[in-house]
Amino acid sequence: MTVETAPATGRLLRTEIPGPRSRELHAAREKALPRGFGVVLPVFVDHVDGALLVDVDGNRLVDLASGIAVTSVGAAAPEVARAVAEQAARFTHTCFMVTEYDGFVGVAEALNRLTPGDHEKRTALFTTGAEAVENAVKIARAHTRRPAVVVLDHAYHGRTLMTMTMTAKNVPYKEGFGPFASEVYRTPTAYPFRWPGGPEHAAQEALAALEEMILTQIGAHNVACIVAEPIQGEGGFIVPADGFLPGVQEFARKHGIVFVADEIQSGFGRTGAMFACEHEGLVPDLITTAKALGGGMPVSAVTGRAEIMDAVDPGGLGGTYAGNPVACAAALAAIELIESRDLVGRARAIEELALPRLTGLAESSAYVGEARGRGAMLALEFVQPGGIVPNPDAAKAVAAYANARGVLTLTCGTFGNVIRLLPPLVITDEQLNDALDVLAEGVADLG
Ligand code: PMP
Repeated sequence: MTVETAPATGRLLRTEIPGPRSRELHAAREKALPRGFGVVLPVFVDHVDGALLVDVDGNRLVDLASGIAVTSVGAAAPEVARAVAEQAARFTHTCFMVTEYDGFVGVAEALNRLTPGDHEKRTALFTTGAEAVENAVKIARAHTRRPAVVVLDHAYHGRTLMTMTMTAKNVPYKEGFGPFASEVYRTPTAYPFRWPGGPEHAAQEALAALEEMILTQIGAHNVACIVAEPIQGEGGFIVPADGFLPGVQEFARKHGIVFVADEIQSGFGRTGAMFACEHEGLVPDLITTAKALGGGMPVSAVTGRAEIMDAVDPGGLGGTYAGNPVACAAALAAIELIESRDLVGRARAIEELALPRLTGLAESSAYVGEARGRGAMLALEFVQPGGIVPNPDAAKAVAAYANARGVLTLTCGTFGNVIRLLPPLVITDEQLNDALDVLAEGVADLG
């Protein structure tokens, strides 16, 4: 591996990736941890500077992962670090169900203000994304007194029993972990690139399939909620065909079904709007958030119509760590940064810079079937040349090429054939262009 030189603001390779110190630490990890924890790149991080991960061997990696869409404001934003330190010095925990603190209320108020719709809202805080989705289902069931939950193909909602059931992909999320929760029904998603009759029919036909399934197989009066990601994340960065989700929302409303938008990956500026729902004018009844909300600290939320949220009696919602005060302090600092630095606008600028370059790759390489996405949630879908047969090997090869050169890149997709770009919104244009150069080389290397 040649040593590249770069200014302190850029990528730098001092050793091969992973370097010797990372490999040593990884060997220790293998003895201490179960096999079930995967790792994208076995590099141990020493510290983070904006969009640069500095590893224990002194390499500087450009981060296109953001810890899976979490560190939008950077993983070491001084404002977040300060808020965390100050709150930790005051107190780390009381349990909000035991005694109260203002940070919890502050985050709830911020979410009530920022989420789509000007109706009266309430917000409940939790810890993980899966917990937020679980609680959205509980709230929808308590409100409607109905059991059924409708989800989409390619959906990802988490790893707990309910959310694993709601997640579409078997390996690795579900394999061996059944039996699953009951009353979860799945229907096609309007996936333009793979819609059998062509993208122009995806919205209408997917909506017809959803309506038919609900009306004939479940009965609309038995459905508590429909849960959908406005841009599907783990399933492949699928931007649903225009009109599909508005149609789903309208159908839900007509039948008294709670429409839940899972914005855990797409929320907080990531897609060039504060929430991805805004691109299609959606006003969900409930919205789940996590990831970027906490600026790197674990906190999640369900925000929604007051009358739905208040369906649960006192004591029915909560959790020891729900809305932990240190995480709330981090969330308030992260939200303040997103708003004051216009990171939503920055996500749009990232799209303007990166999407044309990715589209260029789709045009020049027979292995890239489509470039897509919104804001700083962008992807390349890899195919066998000449068609749309998924090509996970090509996606893995390009990701491995980039990772070995210090550009941290994630794959995703039901077929494992998508490379996704989720840079921190504080990435510089130079860092982003450098990372895109490496990706382009990786694609060219496919042949
Ligand atoms: N929903 C979506 C849309 C997600 O992307 C994720 C995490 N990738 C989750 C739910 C689950 O979040 P967590 O891992 O925090 O439980």
